[in-house]
Amino acid sequence: MNGQVSFYRGRKLCTFLSPTKIIIGEGSASEIGKEARALGGRKVLIVTDQGVVRSGILDSVLESLRKEKLKTKVFDEVEPEPPARIVDKCAEVVRKEKFNLVIGVGGGSSLDVAKGVSILATNKGVVLDYVGVDTVPKPGLPKILVPTTAGTGSEVTRVFVITDEQENTKKVVYTNFNIANVAILDPLLTLSLPQSVTADTGVDALVHAIEAYVSVNSTPFSDMLALHAISLISENLPKAYAKGSDLEARYNMLLAATVAGLAFTSGGLGAVHGLAYVLGTEYHMSHGRSNAIMLPHVMRYNLIGNYRKYANIAEAMGEVVEGLSIAEQAELSVEAVKKLLTAVGISYKLSDYGIPRSDLPKLVEGGMKQARLFVPNPRDLTEEDVRKIYEGAF
Ligand code: NAD
Repeated sequence: MNGQVSFYRGRKLCTFLSPTKIIIGEGSASEIGKEARALGGRKVLIVTDQGVVRSGILDSVLESLRKEKLKTKVFDEVEPEPPARIVDKCAEVVRKEKFNLVIGVGGGSSLDVAKGVSILATNKGVVLDYVGVDTVPKPGLPKILVPTTAGTGSEVTRVFVITDEQENTKKVVYTNFNIANVAILDPLLTLSLPQSVTADTGVDALVHAIEAYVSVNSTPFSDMLALHAISLISENLPKAYAKGSDLEARYNMLLAATVAGLAFTSGGLGAVHGLAYVLGTEYHMSHGRSNAIMLPHVMRYNLIGNYRKYANIAEAMGEVVEGLSIAEQAELSVEAVKKLLTAVGISYKLSDYGIPRSDLPKLVEGGMKQARLFVPNPRDLTEEDVRKIYEGAF
């Protein structure tokens, strides 16, 4: 890296959190049964969605549990951007039938529901009771998380995200009890990902890494992880998109998504997520796609907040930066992201999604509801700034 960012944080105490046992490798799904037994599992609930069931990738998971003679049931009613009611419904099943271990298999939606259910199995009430930071009194059931998209990093994070349908917004539950006991990263389970999901989820991982890297709460640990994830994603996402059967690219993307998850668990997120959530709730776009659309616009706005780090992002994404001023180098990070989005078929213009300019007030109102995510952002945002960013995104 031509411009080394100092890891010095002086008297600021930095925590790195990663108690999850992570197993990565082709065929690692066959370890799930042994891991479940080692965690004391007797009666196991698999939490997933119908897309995952249809793709046939559950077979290797079920086979592994059968070998260990564990009683297993599948709850496959998870919906994308999962509404709170799905977590509550699944928790009823766990409470009534007394499951003692939860396994989430799927994208972030299934993993997040599995986390919520694990918590509700041992704590009273409904999931919306626990929105916020450290509001959960007791640890949940042990859980194994098996990502089948290479995107959210939920398998190693201390949060889960649910949709509050009454308020039409996303809500987050932050607690260390959300941290999985075991994460199994088997790239064979991601081969069936459709091209558009590969693109959206892969860019989601990139957003995690970039936001964690430039966050004012970044740590020496998150910096190293985030930058490595950025270069892995920029090299492997186009390959995985171009040829879904490229196992090496799938492996590297799964690794990168988890590494990015570790980075943002310690470093935090920022205004890309803050301004993207409303696209999901108002226009039913996937989480990854809404983040992808906002990414270059927020990056351009943020550049002055940390030229050095954006310059390093440009270099990590393969841009030639020699001979340029630091501001010019930083500018190249936005161009690199735009090239990557174009390569994987993602438009970053709101108008291409049929969103009319007259919706601007609705977007600004939705973006401002997530102002908590502006705090770690490298540049402050006022309501007027938010309006200008959305305007620029049309
Ligand atoms: P997702 O879980 O909603 O899955 C998207 C689609 O892909 C679904 O239709 C699913 O059936 C299908 N799918 C998944 N794996 C497949 C496979 N291998 N083959 C074929 N189809 C497959 O999407 P996602 O982007 O992974 O997760 C999004 C959710 O994760 C959002 O709710 C978001 O808020 C949340 N999230 C959570 C965290 C966290 O740390 N907890 C971080 C980021 C995002």
